[in-house]
Amino acid sequence: MEADIPRIGFGYDVHRLVQGRPLILGGLKIPFEKGLHGHSDADVLTHAVMDAILGAIGKGDIGLHFPDSDPMYKGANSLSLLKKAMEILHQEGFTVNNLDATIVAQEPKLTEYLDEMGKQLSHVLGVEPGSVNVKATTSEGLGYCGRGEGLAAYAVVTVKRA
Ligand code: MG
Repeated sequence: MEADIPRIGFGYDVHRLVQGRPLILGGLKIPFEKGLHGHSDADVLTHAVMDAILGAIGKGDIGLHFPDSDPMYKGANSLSLLKKAMEILHQEGFTVNNLDATIVAQEPKLTEYLDEMGKQLSHVLGVEPGSVNVKATTSEGLGYCGRGEGLAAYAVVTVKRA
């Protein structure tokens, strides 16, 4: 790897919205009548961030390191999985520079929670809150997000040599 050039990573994830599950985004429990289906806590935002981190250092993806066939990760708190992804990043000699992420959700409205999600993520990523930006958008009623069938998240990180 080149020594001084920042590296970029991209992550994308989708989870289905179902009854009877809590909605966890960026480690934050969001009041809503539905939650995301998944093997872990199904925190779609944190999963996209993890994939971006692993991608930035050429270390595959979340499914490779944290397979959903592994009972160890059943119900897992995704922020603690993000901590493990950070350990991999540190082992490779990198730290996070900044994160930019977008959640696609027709419902619920997420505006009031975005700052707190960013703070929680920045804490685990080891950066100032100002280096983390979390946004939310609807898909104008179009597609699976627009119909409320699921939520998607996109994340881009840059990392630099520690
Ligand atoms: Mg996922």
